[in-house]
Amino acid sequence: MTYALLATAALILIITYIYLKPKQKVTKNIFNAEYYRGLNYLLNNEEDKAFKIFTALMDVDSSTVETHLALGGLYRKRGEFDKAILIHQNLLSRPTLESELKNQALYELAKDFHSAGLYDRSEKIFKNLSEISKYKHSCQEELIKLYESTNDWSNALKMVEKSKSLSINNHKPEVLLSQYYCEMSSEYYKNSEVEKSVTMSKKAIKTDPACMRANLQLAKYYSHNDINASSQYYYLAINQNYKFCKFIVSKIIELAKRYNNSSMIMKTITDIAKKSDLPFIPDVYLFLFYEKDNQLANYYIQQHKDHNEVTNFLINYTFAIANKTSGNQSFNDLIQSSKTIFSNHTHFFCNNCGYKSSILNWLCPKCNTWNEAIPKTNIDIIEENSFNAR
Ligand SMILES: [Zn+2]
Repeated sequence: MTYALLATAALILIITYIYLKPKQKVTKNIFNAEYYRGLNYLLNNEEDKAFKIFTALMDVDSSTVETHLALGGLYRKRGEFDKAILIHQNLLSRPTLESELKNQALYELAKDFHSAGLYDRSEKIFKNLSEISKYKHSCQEELIKLYESTNDWSNALKMVEKSKSLSINNHKPEVLLSQYYCEMSSEYYKNSEVEKSVTMSKKAIKTDPACMRANLQLAKYYSHNDINASSQYYYLAINQNYKFCKFIVSKIIELAKRYNNSSMIMKTITDIAKKSDLPFIPDVYLFLFYEKDNQLANYYIQQHKDHNEVTNFLINYTFAIANKTSGNQSFNDLIQSSKTIFSNHTHFFCNNCGYKSSILNWLCPKCNTWNEAIPKTNIDIIEENSFNAR
């Protein structure tokens, strides 16, 4: 009798188990499938679709931590910082939250605070979390971003030095350090503390010899009292990044115009003209023409002729500008005509995200990458397009 009862009870238990188990699994699977569908949308940058899924999941089961984290991150991306903060704070208020998930939520909340401009609160959390070895590197990176966005260069410097990592926010530490020195340099310069700015720019070069920005700064600082030093720094900068050659040549030409003395920059322009791997720069030809160095002027044209149609067009027009009047134009007139004809407005394009700006941002305001801005004139863009169309 007892055995029969036990057997029946066991059978009922087994049936109940079999009946209930798949049901539970299905709900969970559906939930997981939806969650991963949302993640997929996120990975494919289809944030609106991801947002819909995560919001729907929250209605089904508001206890799931992952959904909270995903949705909070999405709110932050959409610029709805208040909602992101609310979601993460709501998660943190749960008494049963495991410590690892709590840290994750704190990390996200600190990012929300940063995005919302609540820097002190963000800094406090990141600093605390960085004590945990798992979070150390990512929190240091976030703190560095935070100091960068608040122009707190001395703290950014300290943090990079402390980090000892070989890659910080996808940059080598020496690249970051030299940029911070350059930032400090330009702050000193704004306050008319020229000597200190020179020291800082030189420190930047010592830290990272490839730092073109520091050479450009020194060229600018010396342009007020030492044309030779200034043009030499410009020349160094050209050699560091050919993509800046037209931009820098226009700066060198400005020097000559400012002092009304073109012969002072003759050596630099001659050196530039002889570099066959640089593109054709109308101002270089016009300068040589004005200085009556016909031999080098002709050599300069011959060197660049027939490279491509746009260059030929440029050469022909520059030649026409120079020979329009029989050499009676002033140097300023010549340069002005070339500016008018070629409508040489320079824009800066971030090589990393494509952000376009009329000013040179060393730190891209869109993707937060250093050193990726490239100057392009309208002609450069036409040249690039004709090259790509082939
Ligand atoms: Zn960018």
